[in-house]
Amino acid sequence: MEYQSTRDSSLRLSSAQAIAQGISAEGGLFVPSEIPSLSMQEMESLLGASYREKAKAVLKKFLTDFTDEELNYCVDNAYTDQKFDSDNIFELSKVGDTAFLLELWHGPTCAFKDMALQLLPYLMTVSAKKTVADKEIVVLVATSGDTGKAALEGFKDVPGTRMLVFYPEDGVSRMQKLQMTTQEGENLFVCAIKGNFDDAQNGVKAIFTDPEILKELEQNGQMFSSANSINWGRLVPQIVYYVAAYLKMVEEKEIALGDEINVAVPTGNFGNILAAYYAAQMGLPVKKLICASNKNKVLTDFIATGTYDKNREFYLTSSPSMDILISSNLERLLYALSGKDDSAIRTWFSALKTQGRYTVPDSVKEELQSRFYGGFCDDAETEAIIREVFSRYGYLCDTHTAVGVKVYKEYKEQSKDDTKTLIASTASPYKFCESVLSAVSDEAIPSDEFLQVEQLQKVTGTKAPASLLSLKDKAVRFQKSVAREEMAEAVKEMLK
Ligand SMILES: *Cc1c(COP(=O)(O)O)cnc(C)c1O
Repeated sequence: MEYQSTRDSSLRLSSAQAIAQGISAEGGLFVPSEIPSLSMQEMESLLGASYREKAKAVLKKFLTDFTDEELNYCVDNAYTDQKFDSDNIFELSKVGDTAFLLELWHGPTCAFKDMALQLLPYLMTVSAKKTVADKEIVVLVATSGDTGKAALEGFKDVPGTRMLVFYPEDGVSRMQKLQMTTQEGENLFVCAIKGNFDDAQNGVKAIFTDPEILKELEQNGQMFSSANSINWGRLVPQIVYYVAAYLKMVEEKEIALGDEINVAVPTGNFGNILAAYYAAQMGLPVKKLICASNKNKVLTDFIATGTYDKNREFYLTSSPSMDILISSNLERLLYALSGKDDSAIRTWFSALKTQGRYTVPDSVKEELQSRFYGGFCDDAETEAIIREVFSRYGYLCDTHTAVGVKVYKEYKEQSKDDTKTLIASTASPYKFCESVLSAVSDEAIPSDEFLQVEQLQKVTGTKAPASLLSLKDKAVRFQKSVAREEMAEAVKEMLK
């Protein structure tokens, strides 16, 4: 299996090269030259297997330059029951007749990012050994809150790596901020920026190609890589859980092997839903992909009109990990839908950079609409849905998941489609206590985040994850905050 860039299809890389490098030099994203298929027989043979075995079967098809030994090493160390508090790695909770919440937040940092970021450090260090041997990998991360913590936890004290995480100072929840600023590990650095997630992501992308910094790296024997979902090594582990969740529905006799399902995903950078699209391309029977946005509904509008337009107000919402106006992974989808037209991709994404918008031709728009349903949900609706799901089903969901539930509900009402549907549940409700509390409790909400946790436990009879409770006793290690223009300086300092 070879990898090419969305902006240069003539490139040919191995998966190890794509993962070690993170992003292509001309700014494109790495994609497999073809999507491998997963037959019904193969799926049948995986029924009853462990998550690790299912992961190996799927990953093997994409990472063909990894030996079985290397893959076993990566997977067996990433998905252990010390790191995940569920034997299954994920959980499936049925809510109503047709909806199944795919809980992806049973890892160390309580968000779905752990599903990929527990594995990525292993994939990356093995990839580096195969391709760039003795270089130290410097991982730069832009986060809207959850990637940062999950990346820090995954790369903590991993030999041969160091990492700097940038997060928007006012754009993350208090629990998310504490998770990052108290992070331990000698190879890790965390820095706030005065700006939003898009600023952080643009800043990081610019640093990746800054000639002065690249020269310095070269002299130090270092190289950059990315732990954001622009890195193929972040996406490929996410394909696994859609296959595993489908098989679990079969194992639990909710569906028969071969039956179609829908998949609904609360979406920001378009990574998670793109993984579901790839799973469908492999042969997983997926009828509709439901793309759920918050008030920053640039994707809803794109699916409806074929015009992507980021020239609009940016909102801070109660689902901060989805407060994004530039969804990077859409580029990979458009590459596939346009028949690998790298020249069209170059045109659209340079228009996005210069004018903030682009329009795809009708053929691409129609293909998009046949596979995807797009919808959105504002903060008031998010709160209402958390309250409704809790009172009707006794199930407590976080703000992001609620966006997915709401848009799924709207899809089902409009389409009358009662196909069973996986809804990605992307974070523990305890990461967003204040918003979740205001949905389910009439009492005054305390301002201290740990009092909020206590109150949420009391009101709902649910239990907060131990890793969040333990933050209370941790010292804050990182307090630095810089302007957007100072991000490059912060990187140079960290390199020393
Ligand atoms: C990152 C994140 C999302 C958005 O996922 P994308 O892959 O960026 O679309 C949704 N919910 C939560 C809780 C997240 O952390």
